[in-house]
Amino acid sequence: MNAYEALKTYFGYDAYKKGQETLVEGILQGKDVLGIMPTGGGKSLCYQLPALVLNGVTIVISPLIALMKDQVDALEEMGINATYINSSLSESEAALRVQEIENNTYKIIYVAPERLNTIGFKELAQHLNISLIAVDEAHCISQWGHDFRPSYKEIPRFINGLKTRPIVAAFTATATTEVVSEIEKLLALEQPITAITGFDRPNLLYKVVKVSNKFAYLLDYLQDHYPENTGIIYCSTRKTVDSLVKKLREKDIEAVGYHGGMTQDLRQQNQDAFIFNKAKIIVATNAFGMGIDKPDVRFVIHYNMPQNMEAYYQEAGRAGRDGEDSACILMYSPSDIVKQKLILQNEFMSPEREQLLYKNLQYLIDYCHTNDCLRSRILTYFGEKSLSSNCGKCSNCLESAEMVDITLEAQKIFSCIYRAKARYGVAIITQILKGSKNKKIQTLGLDRLSTYGIMKEYSTDVIREITMTLAAKGYIHVTTDQFPVLKLTERCRNVFSGEEKVYHKKNLVEKKESLENNSRNKSKKLIEKFEEALFNQLKELRMQLSQEKQVPTFVIFHDAALKEMAAAFPQNKVEFLSINGVGMKKYETYGEAFISVIKSYCEKNNIVVAESIKENIKEVKVAQQDKEQGLDRYVLTYNCYEEGLPLEAISTKREMTTSTILQHLKKCEEKGKSIDWERFLNDPSKETKILKAIETVGFEKLKPIKEALTEEITYDDIRIIIYKNKLSKVN
Ligand code: ADP
Ligand code: ZN
Repeated sequence: MNAYEALKTYFGYDAYKKGQETLVEGILQGKDVLGIMPTGGGKSLCYQLPALVLNGVTIVISPLIALMKDQVDALEEMGINATYINSSLSESEAALRVQEIENNTYKIIYVAPERLNTIGFKELAQHLNISLIAVDEAHCISQWGHDFRPSYKEIPRFINGLKTRPIVAAFTATATTEVVSEIEKLLALEQPITAITGFDRPNLLYKVVKVSNKFAYLLDYLQDHYPENTGIIYCSTRKTVDSLVKKLREKDIEAVGYHGGMTQDLRQQNQDAFIFNKAKIIVATNAFGMGIDKPDVRFVIHYNMPQNMEAYYQEAGRAGRDGEDSACILMYSPSDIVKQKLILQNEFMSPEREQLLYKNLQYLIDYCHTNDCLRSRILTYFGEKSLSSNCGKCSNCLESAEMVDITLEAQKIFSCIYRAKARYGVAIITQILKGSKNKKIQTLGLDRLSTYGIMKEYSTDVIREITMTLAAKGYIHVTTDQFPVLKLTERCRNVFSGEEKVYHKKNLVEKKESLENNSRNKSKKLIEKFEEALFNQLKELRMQLSQEKQVPTFVIFHDAALKEMAAAFPQNKVEFLSINGVGMKKYETYGEAFISVIKSYCEKNNIVVAESIKENIKEVKVAQQDKEQGLDRYVLTYNCYEEGLPLEAISTKREMTTSTILQHLKKCEEKGKSIDWERFLNDPSKETKILKAIETVGFEKLKPIKEALTEEITYDDIRIIIYKNKLSKVN
């Protein structure tokens, strides 16, 4: 089986994520690799897939014993034979596994680094044909990193002790240069093929909040997000964890705690409750998290400030591994800084390291105070370029996006007051600007003013809001007569001349529906085209199966796969297998149960799976892919247009129908780009014909126009003319 076949058959995916192909191909060519990808980037597939294709076994070195079982369960669910050996097994269980391993039962074996150089394991390894050693969370080898594990340093000794040196692959989500170069050096990687994907996580919303009552804020937040969503709340001390769990429970919020002071059993129990969605919230110290691969964590709240930027990025990054929108909220308080500094002072370390950690902490403090884009701050920390524009998804960008320049509007209002000779109140001024057909306006002759109707695209409320704001800011004086009259003050001179600008809250002055809505929200809307009720039924079925089989829900299917089912209504094997994340084994195990729920839902609701729905799915998929890559789909289409491609070529390239492409371009035009529609008409004389037809049958529906014309004029031609002439309301 080649890599692509394995990707589809076992993992159920049609395409690689960024960076995956380089690493998979590198391994398959026998090279060492180093993968630096953010959480959720898809690192595990980079060694699991080659493990299937290569001849021998793959050993995965992973720091967390507690998670090995989940990883192995997930692989078994996909039809991949895998196992683990660690201290959680009884002696007889371990002996049995060793036997099975010797009989070549498994393709993938997970072990903790501490076990590698034990006599038993070394002996076992000598008998095996090991083709690949994958080192997960490879930054644990670095003293510079925040998760240093002395036992990781033992890995090279193990590798050197093997008869033949296997391929070595290392993976981490940490990107600081110090750490990366240490990984390469200490693991003795041989000219590794490296893939560093960007560190932006477009689906995460970053927020810093400064509140005096953190608990009240938390409760308020949970009111909107509990119990639908699962989340992690990080605290800096065990004591805070315990007390917060208690306080949440008193408010009937099902939360469990996790910290190093608990017994191993209790910790495991709480972690399982969280992973199996029995407890929606886990309150934890930083002892919780590394390697937690629960994909549907919807929020990570830092109740206290973490140690430094790097730790923050890692911890917050545990939200939204599955690519769905999730929030990362950092609660800032000055006392936390003092606490972190004290911790640093009390730790024994080299002056070099201490300095580095201070610098790293300071970066986080700056992050809390900056007015710049938080996302850009994070990216620049990791040496990436900051984003060129407003990210629209961090508290700073959202706030600044809330203010818009209303200087032009102010000038219009001022000139209207001036032309109306400062004799009228806000009601009349508003009506003049709006272009009202009101009798009074006409009898007073105000409809003849040059300012009549110059703000007709705004609602009366918005014009009034802006006018009153200008009064509040002192540009307009409202007389206190019986009929208040608007007069201009000295202050508006500078605004008139353009020297001074005026700003106001965006949501209060929007014309209609804002077209500036950022791309992230748009793709979200598209993805939300699924049937909510069906999605819930599928989730219920998944929960039931998860309990029966004692595996976490996400091991069965991710939310994204269920959403896709609830949009595509797959009714047979081929259709079911076309869902992203459904491989052959999953179909065999679960296909029938899920299809039957889908079928009966369709019957009950008279849903006929038509072509239109298939198109809908494609949109969902493309939107999701674009979203993963943080791209604006309209911009992608526009780029093709700019390349000068004909309509059909753009459609092929973007895997969308020509009519969708035209719609995209229309959106781009609305956002201020210029589109030369005529470029898509093969015969310019068509325009007159189409416009003539529109004159008689209108443009609300395309079909009558098409029927009024000769064969050679296509639907696309008609759309082009409608867009070109800005006749609205047509899709
Ligand atoms: P990491 O270990 O880098 O944090 P994971 O390996 O847990 O990331 O993968 C993150 C998510 O991406 C998982 O939900 C996984 O199923 C999904 N995923 C991985 N590879 C692909 C792919 N090629 N296409 C679509 N989804 C993928
Ligand atoms: Zn931002």
